[in-house]
Amino acid sequence: MRLAVQYCPYCGEQDLRPREEPQGAWECADCRSTFVITPAASPVRGPA
Ligand SMILES: [Zn+2]
Repeated sequence: MRLAVQYCPYCGEQDLRPREEPQGAWECADCRSTFVITPAASPVRGPA
């Protein structure tokens, strides 16, 4: 299952490339940051 990624969490760029490792990781083509999107990728801001 490939999750859709909207924005780089570091620079906000939308040009993201999926990476093989680690699983679920994406690389930003702009700032070269790698980050992992968890399956529970809903906007959670902690306890209300
Ligand atoms: Zn970026």
